[in-house]
Amino acid sequence: MSLGRARSIALVGLTGVPIDIEVDVVSGLPAIRLVGLADRAVNEAIDRVRSAVTNSEFAFPAQRVTISLSPAALPKSGSTFDLPIAMACLASLGLASAEAMVNTVFIGELALDGRLRPTAGILPAVLAARTLGIGRVVVPRANLAEAQLVSGITVVGVSSLREAVEPGHVDAQAILHADEVDVVVDSVARNFDLSDVIGVETAVEALVVAAVGGHNLFMVGPPGAGKTMLASRLSGILPPLTEEEALEVAAIQSLVEGARRRVDLDRAPPFQAPHHTLSAAGMVGGGAGVARPGVAVRAHRGVLFLDEAPEFATNVLDCLRQPLESGRISLHRAAFTVEFPSAFQLVLAANPCPCGQSASGNDVRCECTGVQRRRYLARLSGPLMDRVDLHVTVPRTTVALRSELTSTITSANARARVTAARAAAVERWGIGGNARVPGTVLRGKRYRLAARETAPIDIALRRGDITMRGYDRVLRVAWSLADLDGVTTPNASHIGRALYFRKGINQ
Ligand SMILES: [Zn+2]
Repeated sequence: MSLGRARSIALVGLTGVPIDIEVDVVSGLPAIRLVGLADRAVNEAIDRVRSAVTNSEFAFPAQRVTISLSPAALPKSGSTFDLPIAMACLASLGLASAEAMVNTVFIGELALDGRLRPTAGILPAVLAARTLGIGRVVVPRANLAEAQLVSGITVVGVSSLREAVEPGHVDAQAILHADEVDVVVDSVARNFDLSDVIGVETAVEALVVAAVGGHNLFMVGPPGAGKTMLASRLSGILPPLTEEEALEVAAIQSLVEGARRRVDLDRAPPFQAPHHTLSAAGMVGGGAGVARPGVAVRAHRGVLFLDEAPEFATNVLDCLRQPLESGRISLHRAAFTVEFPSAFQLVLAANPCPCGQSASGNDVRCECTGVQRRRYLARLSGPLMDRVDLHVTVPRTTVALRSELTSTITSANARARVTAARAAAVERWGIGGNARVPGTVLRGKRYRLAARETAPIDIALRRGDITMRGYDRVLRVAWSLADLDGVTTPNASHIGRALYFRKGINQ
């Protein structure tokens, strides 16, 4: 008997760390020991691996078996080490060929009968393997489609332990089973078009401006005014993701959803609309061991829409400050920190008052007091609203009015305008998104606007109507409006409209 080795990948957030698994079999009373800081799921691997090995018609050694996972200091979680542990066991018995093991990473959970189960997080693990320069990765067959999205690495899908050991072996029954497990789900419907939204031109314009500059947006209006309808169309007018971005988004989905069956890479930016009862852990991520990403991570490179935003718990809204500031979320665990990317565009929607009927044009009277109304929207004030450049009121249009109106703005032509305007901004600043340009650059020598253009905001600033931060936000929106109009510098009219979007909410 000798030492058997296999390699795998552990995920900390989306970052992969190579894990070396060693199995040592020595003569003595039959016993199995697992060393190297593993959680319960990994400890249970011992039982699964023993059953899977035996049921694959291999003999599990009736001796002292020591299984070591290193680096030991890194917490290891989940069941994806089953396959590499089994492979290392079989290698120690001389049953797995050296060529099956060389430059190869194994990932997968075993069923007791030796089949491989589909597993969450395969895509980020394969991406990590490629980054680490590994040539070949063996994954459950049910995860093959997702793993094959990654180019530049050989991906092998196997349906059973037997197949992993004997590359030529095909287990027909296991394949059948794996196919049963797979369900083709295209969860995101993208049939929403901007042309469905009518009678709220100002809000549509704000949405397009938001898409151009990457500005966060706040909409106030009575229930039924179409705030959700508008927000759900934002990701459809954003430029499609690049391949790298789409892979990153798919990797996050893979962590959350388990086996993905989409064979193509979805280039549409994600859209997340959590309910206001969401917890802080649900927003940023949490859970025992290695944390699961929250909604704000799943909205990475897309849109995070909070309907009835004042109803969200204050601590949940406060959680958004870090990602809005840095585009990342750090979750501190007992022994380590998990970091996730979380650069999303925030869209907040609120009713004008707690009952929602204020200024709705309905027969239903609003009975909220002035204090109640102010308090309601004030729940959103402060550091969060400091990051929101665009404010817009969405009026409720009557049904009669709606049927008379038709909109000519489709998502496709809005997206074309947005893409062209964004390209202009990238050319100018070197980065995409006017919302991210520092105030010092906006007011600096090179891009400072003439005093006659900025007169309205200079006056507002002197009078104390807007703060310096507010001043910069108006400038950012004015640049987006100018980019949208295809002119090189914002003029007084752009400044005026930007100022309107700053103070657009009648309270
Ligand atoms: Zn009210």
